[in-house]
Amino acid sequence: MSGGLGGGCSCGAVRYRLASGPLFVHCCHCLNCQRQTGSAFVINLLIESDRVEILAGEPQPVDTPRDDGSAQRIYRCPDCRIAVFSEYGWPEIWFVRGGTLDDPSAVEPDVHIFTRSKLPWVTLPAGTPAFEVYYDSQALWPAESFERRDAVVAQRAERGAG
Ligand SMILES: [Zn+2]
Ligand SMILES: [Zn+2]
Repeated sequence: MSGGLGGGCSCGAVRYRLASGPLFVHCCHCLNCQRQTGSAFVINLLIESDRVEILAGEPQPVDTPRDDGSAQRIYRCPDCRIAVFSEYGWPEIWFVRGGTLDDPSAVEPDVHIFTRSKLPWVTLPAGTPAFEVYYDSQALWPAESFERRDAVVAQRAERGAG
């Protein structure tokens, strides 16, 4: 996967560029993602937040309740309110919404998750790993992505974030 992918919201106030390829790409079929997107699934590019260059605008965080009682921080364009990134507890890793890329065909999911709530008319491609619930990232992520993730963990430890 190449770096330099760009994207933004619908009105153009928020523009971003990814400084490298993502760590991994999730296609999530869970009910939270279906509700948040109003669609069948979400495509999330997991990437270090410091690799997301904000070229224009200031995405605003909105803490959105999830079915398990936790909150998911979703960053939205302050003007058109399109969701561009979200966070699941770790501010160092953002989940960039694949549909906001200028060229959404530039990435394909590395894994399909929460297929237990996949809509029945969605047919998954053969050859892409798919899981009823979550998955074992140890087993699927490339070594390079793990090294990048370890660097994030080390930064968190240094700052005492646990
Ligand atoms: Zn906008
Ligand atoms: Zn989901």
